[in-house]
Amino acid sequence: MPIYEYLCSKCNVIYQFFVKSGSNPSPSCPKCGAGDLERVMSTFSTSRKGEIGSSTSGDDMPDLSDIDESDPRSMARAIRHMADDMGEDLGPELDEAITRLEAGEDPEKVERELEGMGLGDEDGPSPGTPPARDPGLYEA
Ligand SMILES: [Zn+2]
Repeated sequence: MPIYEYLCSKCNVIYQFFVKSGSNPSPSCPKCGAGDLERVMSTFSTSRKGEIGSSTSGDDMPDLSDIDESDPRSMARAIRHMADDMGEDLGPELDEAITRLEAGEDPEKVERELEGMGLGDEDGPSPGTPPARDPGLYEA
């Protein structure tokens, strides 16, 4: 009997389910009852040690080690570079933030205001935080 893993994005927890062969399971979250669990591929679990954050958001993020965070202009360059890589148009808010960085404003202050607008928070709860694993086994 195969065991499938499902991620509840609401709980940010991976649950394991027994699945009867031939069935097409759509299990509900044993904890919160959500019915839209996301099937987790096995590679997800084998590479989960510190890899999830970088594999899901790594393409979107600049290599922060190359950025001098005390230098607003360096951060502004990195953000522009990141936007170029994604081929995305910077929104007016981000564009303004970068302009402020380039003008030498405190990056932390600009960053906080960006976060307040919800930028960089599109991957569900706690992006970059690997989901926990529920040790139990449930029946789909
Ligand atoms: Zn749940």
